[in-house]
Amino acid sequence: MKKTISLAIVFAFIISCSTVPITGRKQFSLVKDSQLLPMAFQQYEGFLREHKVSTNAAMTKQVKSVGKRISGAVDRYMRANDMADKADSYRWEFNLIEDKSINAWAMPGGKTVFYTGIMPIAKNEDGVAAIMGHEVAHAFARHGAERMSTGMLAQAGGIAVALSTGNKDPRKQQMWMTAYGVGSQLGQLKFSRVHETEADKLGVVFMIMAGYNPEESVNVWIRMSQRADAGQAPPEILSTHPSNQTRIIALRNWIPEAKVLAKKFNAQTLTN
Ligand SMILES: [Zn+2]
Repeated sequence: MKKTISLAIVFAFIISCSTVPITGRKQFSLVKDSQLLPMAFQQYEGFLREHKVSTNAAMTKQVKSVGKRISGAVDRYMRANDMADKADSYRWEFNLIEDKSINAWAMPGGKTVFYTGIMPIAKNEDGVAAIMGHEVAHAFARHGAERMSTGMLAQAGGIAVALSTGNKDPRKQQMWMTAYGVGSQLGQLKFSRVHETEADKLGVVFMIMAGYNPEESVNVWIRMSQRADAGQAPPEILSTHPSNQTRIIALRNWIPEAKVLAKKFNAQTLTN
């Protein structure tokens, strides 16, 4: 019995390695988008029903318009790089909810939430774009599916059960939410730091493609670290990350290369 399970896992591993576009990192995923996305879409609806959508029209408009531009850049990139199916399967949506937490996330398939608590840290449109780029990058790079798969691997054999029970089992639901990055227990998942760094890099590329100023991403993380140091509960984006200083330096160093990539990707997609 045990042997069958380990063989199954080895086999699954062989067929489940793929490469993250742009960064080229090899990733492992047992979960297909065709299984994951419908569940994520359904859970997003549930989340919106249970939380208060912001009535601040100006801020909401800003989040939605930045989301549209950034996801538009991601969509163009995917279509120009043999990922039209993936682009078609995403259902981008951007909402601002009334909540003081310094938080934002994007579920697999592009369903995104900003919390009003993060808006002072975003501070301006370029700042919103920096955070948006980062969150959208998690969805683009399928970090949720990867987190989920490694979590599943730890519980060998639970994969089929999780997929078949879907949303019905509350404990499983929590597992999905955590995998998406919606939960706050990401610290124990060992790939998180890799994911955060990757989301930073991809996010800057997408924000430049969409026409925003990438330098503001550095300022956002400076403001973020000041808040976290001020005794606030660390936001998702900080909780599992190398020190803020490391992150800020890495971002600064990445911006020149990101500009080159963004220019190249825009050239692929903005001809005519
Ligand atoms: Zn993140």
